[in-house]
Amino acid sequence: MDSAAVSVNGDRLRSRLEALARIGADPRGGVSRFSFTPAHTEAVRLVGGWMREAGLTPTIDGAGNLIGRGVPASSNGAYPAIAAGSHLDSVPMGGMFDGALGVLAAVECAQAMRDAGASWTRPFVSIAFADEEGNQFGVGCLTSRFFVGDLSDEHMKTIKDAEGRALRDRVAAWESVWPREQAPPLAAYFELHVEQGPKLEAEGLDGAVATAIAGMSRATITYRGHANHAGTTPMTLRKDALWGASAFVLAMRRLALYTGGDAVATVGKLDVEPGATNVVPGLARLRIELRSGREELLEQLRGAAEIQARGIGMEYELHVEVSEWTHSPVVPIDVSMQSMALAHAARRGARVVRMPSWAGHDAKIFAPRMPTALLFVPSKGGISHHPHEWTDWKHVTQGAQWLLDMVTALARNLSDG
Ligand SMILES: [Zn+2]
Repeated sequence: MDSAAVSVNGDRLRSRLEALARIGADPRGGVSRFSFTPAHTEAVRLVGGWMREAGLTPTIDGAGNLIGRGVPASSNGAYPAIAAGSHLDSVPMGGMFDGALGVLAAVECAQAMRDAGASWTRPFVSIAFADEEGNQFGVGCLTSRFFVGDLSDEHMKTIKDAEGRALRDRVAAWESVWPREQAPPLAAYFELHVEQGPKLEAEGLDGAVATAIAGMSRATITYRGHANHAGTTPMTLRKDALWGASAFVLAMRRLALYTGGDAVATVGKLDVEPGATNVVPGLARLRIELRSGREELLEQLRGAAEIQARGIGMEYELHVEVSEWTHSPVVPIDVSMQSMALAHAARRGARVVRMPSWAGHDAKIFAPRMPTALLFVPSKGGISHHPHEWTDWKHVTQGAQWLLDMVTALARNLSDG
Protein backbone atom coordinates (compact mmCIF):
# COMPACT_ATOMS: atom_id res chain seq x y z
CA MET A 1 0.00 0.00 0.00
CA ASP A 2 1.35 3.43 -0.93
CA SER A 3 2.03 5.45 2.20
CA ALA A 4 0.86 8.57 0.35
CA ALA A 5 -2.65 7.17 0.55
CA VAL A 6 -2.64 7.24 4.35
CA SER A 7 -3.47 10.58 5.97
CA VAL A 8 -3.32 11.62 9.59
CA ASN A 9 -6.44 13.08 11.17
CA GLY A 10 -5.49 16.58 12.33
CA ASP A 11 -8.71 17.15 14.27
CA ARG A 12 -8.25 13.98 16.30
CA LEU A 13 -4.62 14.82 17.02
CA ARG A 14 -5.64 18.30 18.13
CA SER A 15 -8.38 17.07 20.46
CA ARG A 16 -6.00 14.56 22.02
CA LEU A 17 -3.30 17.19 22.53
CA GLU A 18 -5.89 19.42 24.17
CA ALA A 19 -7.14 16.59 26.38
CA LEU A 20 -3.60 15.66 27.43
CA ALA A 21 -2.84 19.31 28.25
CA ARG A 22 -5.63 19.24 30.85
CA ILE A 23 -3.81 16.48 32.72
CA GLY A 24 -1.38 18.15 35.05
CA ALA A 25 -2.70 21.59 34.04
CA ASP A 26 -1.07 24.08 36.41
CA PRO A 27 -3.47 26.64 37.99
CA ARG A 28 -0.73 29.25 37.40
CA GLY A 29 -0.70 28.39 33.66
CA GLY A 30 0.74 25.72 31.42
CA VAL A 31 1.33 22.08 32.29
CA SER A 32 3.19 20.76 35.35
CA ARG A 33 3.22 17.03 34.68
CA PHE A 34 6.18 15.58 36.51
CA SER A 35 7.15 11.97 36.11
CA PHE A 36 5.38 9.38 38.29
CA THR A 37 3.04 11.92 39.88
CA PRO A 38 -0.71 11.15 39.86
CA ALA A 39 -1.03 13.40 36.77
CA HIS A 40 1.56 11.32 34.94
CA THR A 41 -0.23 8.11 35.95
CA GLU A 42 -3.47 9.52 34.57
CA ALA A 43 -1.68 10.51 31.34
CA VAL A 44 -0.25 6.99 31.00
CA ARG A 45 -3.75 5.56 31.41
CA LEU A 46 -5.23 7.95 28.83
CA VAL A 47 -2.47 7.67 26.21
CA GLY A 48 -2.38 3.87 26.64
CA GLY A 49 -6.11 3.86 25.91
CA TRP A 50 -5.51 5.83 22.70
CA MET A 51 -2.76 3.38 21.77
CA ARG A 52 -5.34 0.61 22.06
CA GLU A 53 -7.79 2.50 19.86
CA ALA A 54 -4.95 2.76 17.34
CA GLY A 55 -4.50 -1.00 17.32
CA LEU A 56 -1.39 -0.96 19.51
CA THR A 57 -0.89 -2.99 22.69
CA PRO A 58 0.16 -0.73 25.58
CA THR A 59 2.89 -2.00 27.92
CA ILE A 60 5.20 -0.48 30.53
CA ASP A 61 8.93 -1.21 30.62
CA GLY A 62 11.23 -1.31 33.66
CA ALA A 63 11.67 2.47 33.70
CA GLY A 64 8.01 3.40 33.29
CA ASN A 65 8.12 4.09 29.56
CA LEU A 66 4.72 3.50 27.96
CA ILE A 67 5.22 1.45 24.80
CA GLY A 68 2.41 0.75 22.32
CA ARG A 69 3.24 -2.27 20.22
CA GLY A 70 1.91 -3.00 16.78
CA VAL A 71 2.98 -6.31 15.33
CA PRO A 72 2.03 -7.13 11.74
CA ALA A 73 -0.06 -10.25 11.29
CA SER A 74 2.57 -11.64 8.94
CA SER A 75 5.38 -11.62 11.55
CA ASN A 76 5.85 -12.92 15.05
CA GLY A 77 7.36 -9.62 16.12
CA ALA A 78 10.89 -11.00 16.03
CA TYR A 79 12.14 -8.22 13.77
CA PRO A 80 13.42 -5.02 15.33
CA ALA A 81 10.68 -2.41 15.37
CA ILE A 82 10.36 1.03 13.82
CA ALA A 83 9.71 3.39 16.73
CA ALA A 84 8.33 6.89 17.07
CA GLY A 85 7.76 8.83 20.24
CA SER A 86 8.81 11.46 22.74
CA HIS A 87 8.23 12.20 26.42
CA LEU A 88 5.13 12.60 28.61
CA ASP A 89 6.71 14.60 31.45
CA SER A 90 6.95 18.39 31.44
CA VAL A 91 8.91 21.15 33.14
CA PRO A 92 7.07 23.27 35.75
CA MET A 93 4.44 25.37 33.93
CA GLY A 94 5.62 23.96 30.62
CA GLY A 95 3.90 24.07 27.25
CA MET A 96 1.32 21.66 25.86
CA PHE A 97 3.40 20.54 22.86
CA ASP A 98 6.84 19.79 24.32
CA GLY A 99 7.02 15.98 24.32
CA ALA A 100 3.25 15.54 23.99
CA LEU A 101 3.35 16.29 20.25
CA GLY A 102 5.86 13.51 19.53
CA VAL A 103 3.99 11.03 21.70
CA LEU A 104 0.55 11.68 20.21
CA ALA A 105 1.77 12.07 16.62
CA ALA A 106 3.27 8.57 16.92
CA VAL A 107 -0.07 7.22 18.16
CA GLU A 108 -1.80 9.07 15.33
CA CYS A 109 0.50 7.32 12.83
CA ALA A 110 -0.83 3.96 14.01
CA GLN A 111 -4.42 5.17 14.14
CA ALA A 112 -4.23 6.61 10.62
CA MET A 113 -2.88 3.29 9.35
CA ARG A 114 -5.73 1.46 11.05
CA ASP A 115 -8.36 3.88 9.70
CA ALA A 116 -7.00 3.37 6.18
CA GLY A 117 -7.17 -0.39 6.57
CA ALA A 118 -3.39 -0.51 6.11
CA SER A 119 -1.22 -2.80 8.17
CA TRP A 120 2.38 -2.58 9.23
CA THR A 121 4.86 -4.54 7.18
CA ARG A 122 7.20 -4.45 10.15
CA PRO A 123 6.64 -4.06 13.92
CA PHE A 124 5.87 -0.45 14.89
CA VAL A 125 6.02 0.91 18.41
CA SER A 126 4.93 4.26 19.74
CA ILE A 127 6.77 5.34 22.87
CA ALA A 128 5.90 7.79 25.65
CA PHE A 129 9.09 8.18 27.67
CA ALA A 130 8.54 8.67 31.38
CA ASP A 131 11.29 11.10 32.31
CA GLU A 132 13.11 13.30 29.83
CA GLU A 133 13.20 16.66 31.58
CA GLY A 134 15.19 15.44 34.59
CA ASN A 135 13.01 17.26 37.15
CA GLN A 136 12.44 14.31 39.46
CA PHE A 137 15.64 12.30 39.41
CA GLY A 138 18.19 14.89 38.30
CA VAL A 139 19.20 13.03 35.12
CA GLY A 140 18.10 14.26 31.67
CA CYS A 141 16.65 11.62 29.30
CA LEU A 142 16.75 9.16 32.21
CA THR A 143 14.22 6.68 30.91
CA SER A 144 15.37 6.66 27.28
CA ARG A 145 18.86 5.89 28.61
CA PHE A 146 17.33 2.88 30.35
CA PHE A 147 15.48 1.95 27.15
CA VAL A 148 18.71 1.62 25.14
CA GLY A 149 20.45 -0.28 27.93
CA ASP A 150 22.71 2.51 29.21
CA LEU A 151 21.39 2.01 32.73
CA SER A 152 21.10 -1.51 34.11
CA ASP A 153 18.23 -2.81 36.20
CA GLU A 154 20.68 -2.84 39.12
CA HIS A 155 21.49 0.84 38.59
CA MET A 156 17.80 1.67 38.25
CA LYS A 157 17.19 0.15 41.69
CA THR A 158 19.44 2.80 43.25
CA ILE A 159 17.67 5.77 41.62
CA LYS A 160 15.54 7.80 44.02
CA ASP A 161 13.67 11.07 43.61
CA ALA A 162 14.20 14.16 45.76
CA GLU A 163 11.81 12.78 48.40
CA GLY A 164 13.71 9.50 48.61
CA ARG A 165 11.13 7.41 46.74
CA ALA A 166 12.68 4.73 44.57
CA LEU A 167 12.03 4.85 40.83
CA ARG A 168 11.54 1.08 40.92
CA ASP A 169 8.61 1.45 43.34
CA ARG A 170 7.04 4.15 41.19
CA VAL A 171 7.20 1.88 38.14
CA ALA A 172 5.88 -1.11 40.12
CA ALA A 173 2.82 0.93 41.05
CA TRP A 174 1.92 1.13 37.36
CA GLU A 175 1.65 -2.61 36.90
CA SER A 176 -2.04 -2.28 37.64
CA VAL A 177 -2.34 0.25 34.80
CA TRP A 178 -0.73 -1.65 31.90
CA PRO A 179 1.20 -4.93 31.78
CA ARG A 180 4.92 -4.86 32.35
CA GLU A 181 7.04 -6.01 29.43
CA GLN A 182 10.62 -5.55 28.35
CA ALA A 183 11.14 -2.96 25.60
CA PRO A 184 11.52 -4.47 22.11
CA PRO A 185 14.71 -4.09 20.02
CA LEU A 186 14.49 -1.19 17.58
CA ALA A 187 15.70 -0.71 14.01
CA ALA A 188 15.08 3.04 13.84
CA TYR A 189 13.77 5.88 15.99
CA PHE A 190 11.73 8.94 14.93
CA GLU A 191 10.86 11.93 17.04
CA LEU A 192 8.66 14.87 16.10
CA HIS A 193 9.21 17.81 18.41
CA VAL A 194 8.48 21.52 18.59
CA GLU A 195 11.50 23.63 17.66
CA GLN A 196 11.55 25.58 20.96
CA GLY A 197 13.47 28.29 19.10
CA PRO A 198 12.57 31.22 16.79
CA LYS A 199 14.27 30.28 13.51
CA LEU A 200 11.50 28.43 11.64
CA GLU A 201 8.79 31.00 12.29
CA ALA A 202 11.12 33.91 11.54
CA GLU A 203 12.06 32.40 8.18
CA GLY A 204 8.53 31.31 7.28
CA LEU A 205 9.45 27.61 7.21
CA ASP A 206 7.22 24.60 7.87
CA GLY A 207 9.83 22.47 9.60
CA ALA A 208 13.40 21.35 10.04
CA VAL A 209 15.29 18.11 10.21
CA ALA A 210 18.07 17.92 12.76
CA THR A 211 21.58 17.39 11.41
CA ALA A 212 23.09 16.80 14.84
CA ILE A 213 22.49 17.39 18.50
CA ALA A 214 24.65 20.39 19.30
CA GLY A 215 27.78 19.83 21.35
CA MET A 216 28.60 21.99 24.32
CA SER A 217 31.82 23.16 26.00
CA ARG A 218 32.01 24.97 29.31
CA ALA A 219 34.82 26.48 31.37
CA THR A 220 35.33 28.84 34.28
CA ILE A 221 37.57 31.86 33.74
CA THR A 222 38.89 33.77 36.72
CA TYR A 223 40.51 37.21 36.61
CA ARG A 224 42.43 38.33 39.69
CA GLY A 225 43.55 41.92 40.26
CA HIS A 226 43.64 44.02 43.45
CA ALA A 227 40.63 45.00 45.49
CA ASN A 228 41.09 48.61 46.58
CA HIS A 229 39.30 51.77 47.66
CA ALA A 230 36.98 53.02 44.92
CA GLY A 231 37.73 56.65 45.75
CA THR A 232 41.41 56.84 46.59
CA THR A 233 42.76 54.51 43.89
CA PRO A 234 43.52 56.49 40.69
CA MET A 235 42.29 54.96 37.45
CA THR A 236 45.84 54.53 36.18
CA LEU A 237 46.86 52.41 39.18
CA ARG A 238 43.89 50.05 39.26
CA LYS A 239 43.94 46.32 38.67
CA ASP A 240 40.21 45.90 38.24
CA ALA A 241 39.33 42.23 37.68
CA LEU A 242 35.94 43.14 36.24
CA TRP A 243 37.59 45.14 33.44
CA GLY A 244 39.11 41.89 32.27
CA ALA A 245 35.89 39.90 32.61
CA SER A 246 33.89 42.59 30.79
CA ALA A 247 36.37 42.71 27.91
CA PHE A 248 36.22 38.91 27.72
CA VAL A 249 32.40 38.81 27.54
CA LEU A 250 32.38 41.20 24.57
CA ALA A 251 35.32 39.46 22.93
CA MET A 252 33.36 36.18 23.03
CA ARG A 253 30.40 37.86 21.35
CA ARG A 254 32.68 38.97 18.50
CA LEU A 255 34.41 35.61 18.27
CA ALA A 256 31.14 33.67 18.00
CA LEU A 257 29.72 36.13 15.47
CA TYR A 258 32.78 36.10 13.24
CA THR A 259 33.54 32.39 13.54
CA GLY A 260 30.52 32.02 11.27
CA GLY A 261 28.50 28.83 11.11
CA ASP A 262 26.10 28.09 13.90
CA ALA A 263 28.33 28.61 16.94
CA VAL A 264 26.96 30.46 19.95
CA ALA A 265 28.84 31.70 23.02
CA THR A 266 27.23 32.74 26.29
CA VAL A 267 28.51 34.10 29.57
CA GLY A 268 25.51 33.50 31.80
CA LYS A 269 27.19 33.65 35.15
CA LEU A 270 29.52 36.25 36.59
CA ASP A 271 30.64 36.64 40.22
CA VAL A 272 32.48 39.71 41.40
CA GLU A 273 34.40 39.95 44.67
CA PRO A 274 34.31 41.52 47.11
CA GLY A 275 31.13 42.81 45.48
CA ALA A 276 30.72 46.23 47.09
CA THR A 277 29.83 49.54 45.45
CA ASN A 278 32.84 51.31 46.93
CA VAL A 279 35.50 48.65 46.24
CA VAL A 280 37.43 48.07 43.01
CA PRO A 281 36.73 44.42 42.10
CA GLY A 282 39.67 42.21 43.05
CA LEU A 283 38.26 39.05 41.50
CA ALA A 284 35.84 38.29 38.67
CA ARG A 285 34.87 34.75 37.86
CA LEU A 286 32.69 33.82 34.89
CA ARG A 287 31.29 30.71 33.23
CA ILE A 288 31.55 30.53 29.49
CA GLU A 289 29.37 28.14 27.47
CA LEU A 290 29.88 27.36 23.78
CA ARG A 291 27.49 25.38 21.59
CA SER A 292 27.61 24.28 18.00
CA GLY A 293 26.41 21.50 15.75
CA ARG A 294 29.97 21.22 14.40
CA GLU A 295 32.74 19.79 16.54
CA GLU A 296 35.48 21.71 14.69
CA LEU A 297 33.81 25.05 15.45
CA LEU A 298 33.70 24.20 19.15
CA GLU A 299 37.36 23.29 19.11
CA GLN A 300 38.24 26.50 17.29
CA LEU A 301 36.22 28.61 19.74
CA ARG A 302 37.70 26.92 22.82
CA GLY A 303 41.19 27.72 21.54
CA ALA A 304 40.25 31.29 20.65
CA ALA A 305 38.59 31.81 24.04
CA GLU A 306 41.76 30.80 25.88
CA ILE A 307 43.94 33.10 23.76
CA GLN A 308 41.52 35.99 24.32
CA ALA A 309 41.30 35.32 28.06
CA ARG A 310 45.07 35.46 28.44
CA GLY A 311 45.56 38.42 26.09
CA ILE A 312 42.98 40.45 28.00
CA GLY A 313 44.73 39.51 31.26
CA MET A 314 47.99 41.00 29.95
CA GLU A 315 46.24 44.12 28.70
CA TYR A 316 44.65 44.87 32.09
CA GLU A 317 47.54 43.47 34.18
CA LEU A 318 45.44 40.72 35.71
CA HIS A 319 46.19 37.16 36.63
CA VAL A 320 44.08 34.73 34.56
CA GLU A 321 43.05 31.14 35.25
CA VAL A 322 41.18 29.04 32.70
CA SER A 323 39.70 25.86 34.16
CA GLU A 324 39.58 22.52 32.35
CA TRP A 325 36.82 22.51 29.75
CA THR A 326 33.92 20.13 30.21
CA HIS A 327 32.73 18.97 26.84
CA SER A 328 29.74 17.03 25.58
CA PRO A 329 30.46 16.20 21.97
CA VAL A 330 28.24 16.84 18.99
CA VAL A 331 25.96 13.84 18.35
CA PRO A 332 25.66 13.45 14.58
CA ILE A 333 22.40 12.25 13.04
CA ASP A 334 22.24 9.67 10.28
CA VAL A 335 22.60 11.46 6.93
CA SER A 336 20.37 9.08 4.98
CA MET A 337 17.55 9.70 7.46
CA GLN A 338 18.02 13.45 6.93
CA SER A 339 17.81 13.05 3.15
CA MET A 340 14.75 10.88 3.49
CA ALA A 341 13.08 13.50 5.70
CA LEU A 342 13.84 16.27 3.22
CA ALA A 343 12.52 14.20 0.31
CA HIS A 344 9.24 13.37 2.09
CA ALA A 345 8.71 17.00 3.08
CA ALA A 346 9.35 18.15 -0.50
CA ARG A 347 6.86 15.63 -1.84
CA ARG A 348 4.17 17.27 0.34
CA GLY A 349 5.29 20.76 -0.69
CA ALA A 350 6.52 21.62 2.82
CA ARG A 351 9.38 24.08 3.21
CA VAL A 352 11.92 22.50 5.54
CA VAL A 353 15.61 23.03 6.26
CA ARG A 354 18.43 21.18 7.97
CA MET A 355 19.73 22.55 11.25
CA PRO A 356 21.30 21.31 14.47
CA SER A 357 19.13 20.64 17.48
CA TRP A 358 20.08 23.02 20.28
CA ALA A 359 18.43 20.88 22.95
CA GLY A 360 18.95 17.22 23.79
CA HIS A 361 15.63 15.34 23.39
CA ASP A 362 15.27 11.56 23.68
CA ALA A 363 16.55 11.33 20.08
CA LYS A 364 20.00 12.23 21.40
CA ILE A 365 20.13 8.86 23.15
CA PHE A 366 19.10 6.92 20.05
CA ALA A 367 21.14 8.77 17.40
CA PRO A 368 24.51 7.10 18.20
CA ARG A 369 22.90 3.65 18.17
CA MET A 370 20.53 3.44 15.21
CA PRO A 371 19.18 5.43 12.27
CA THR A 372 17.34 8.31 13.94
CA ALA A 373 15.33 11.24 12.64
CA LEU A 374 14.51 14.31 14.71
CA LEU A 375 11.89 16.51 13.04
CA PHE A 376 10.93 19.99 14.14
CA VAL A 377 7.84 22.12 13.59
CA PRO A 378 7.77 25.88 14.31
CA SER A 379 7.26 27.34 17.78
CA LYS A 380 5.40 30.67 17.87
CA GLY A 381 7.87 33.35 18.92
CA GLY A 382 10.39 30.64 19.74
CA ILE A 383 8.77 30.24 23.16
CA SER A 384 8.98 26.92 25.01
CA HIS A 385 9.16 25.59 28.58
CA HIS A 386 6.51 28.25 29.20
CA PRO A 387 2.67 28.34 29.25
CA HIS A 388 2.70 30.44 26.06
CA GLU A 389 4.41 27.70 24.04
CA TRP A 390 2.43 27.41 20.81
CA THR A 391 2.53 25.65 17.46
CA ASP A 392 -0.14 26.31 14.83
CA TRP A 393 -2.50 23.38 14.23
CA LYS A 394 -1.60 23.45 10.56
CA HIS A 395 2.01 22.71 11.49
CA VAL A 396 0.96 20.05 14.03
CA THR A 397 -0.95 18.16 11.33
CA GLN A 398 1.75 18.70 8.74
CA GLY A 399 4.42 17.44 11.14
CA ALA A 400 2.44 14.32 12.03
CA GLN A 401 1.92 13.58 8.33
CA TRP A 402 5.65 14.00 7.76
CA LEU A 403 6.29 11.50 10.54
CA LEU A 404 3.74 9.03 9.15
CA ASP A 405 5.17 9.27 5.63
CA MET A 406 8.66 8.49 6.94
CA VAL A 407 7.62 5.72 9.31
CA THR A 408 5.54 3.88 6.73
CA ALA A 409 8.15 4.30 3.98
CA LEU A 410 10.84 2.84 6.19
CA ALA A 411 8.71 -0.07 7.29
CA ARG A 412 7.95 -0.88 3.67
CA ASN A 413 11.49 -0.42 2.38
CA LEU A 414 13.05 -2.56 5.07
CA SER A 415 10.57 -5.37 4.57
CA ASP A 416 11.01 -5.20 0.79
CA GLY A 417 14.78 -5.36 1.20
ZN1 LIG B 1 10.87 17.88 24.92
